[in-house]
Amino acid sequence: MDIFTGQAGWIEVVCGPMFSGKSEELIRRLRRARIARKRVQVFKPTIDDRYSATEIVSHGDQRLPSDVVSSAKEILEKLDWRAQVIGVDESNFFGPDLVDIATQLADSGKQVIIAGLDTDYLGRPFTPMPDLLCIAESITKTLAICMRCGHPAKHTQRLVESSELIVVGATGMYEARCRRCFEPGVSKQEVMDFARPPKAAGQG
Ligand code: ADP
Ligand code: ZN
Repeated sequence: MDIFTGQAGWIEVVCGPMFSGKSEELIRRLRRARIARKRVQVFKPTIDDRYSATEIVSHGDQRLPSDVVSSAKEILEKLDWRAQVIGVDESNFFGPDLVDIATQLADSGKQVIIAGLDTDYLGRPFTPMPDLLCIAESITKTLAICMRCGHPAKHTQRLVESSELIVVGATGMYEARCRRCFEPGVSKQEVMDFARPPKAAGQG
């Protein structure tokens, strides 16, 4: 229950691959909250400074001022407790602590809107999104357009070689792919090598 408004809180999750419109949807919901004269606060992780250090920015260049934090716990430290609506972008970068923080915020009457990647570059569930989906009141899955075939895309294809879970980047490093076109963990070079016919005996 919110001590200022007496309102019950809840958690909304917006998840999907890169380029699927998660940030656009988060920005849309937060703008509507402002129109409803609600006090809004937005957080994003320091790890994602691709476009701006002080705003959340969508790939279509929509922007909203945000507080940058280096951990989920810092959300509570920087929180303006008068805020009624709390947005969190790039939530998959916050790790498991975000589950408790989101619960505390919702329990104290806040409307918590969480956007993040539901799967990683290998197609595996991305911590802490699965747990957040379980505790949320509302879930929206956004899909992108597959860059190979144009079908709805639920995967984030990494185009550069790395076995690190987190490699921050956007166009050129990642693209959206559908279930059929997704090649988990296979770099472009490996695919080409695999497709090449083996050399015949005696050939140089
Ligand atoms: P996300 O937060 O999910 O990465 P954004 O909200 O930042 O997505 O960006 C969505 C926008 O990205 C779309 O409105 C569109 O302009 C652009 N875009 C670029 N590539 C794609 C794609 N493959 N599928 C859909 N939208 C794309
Ligand atoms: Zn495809």
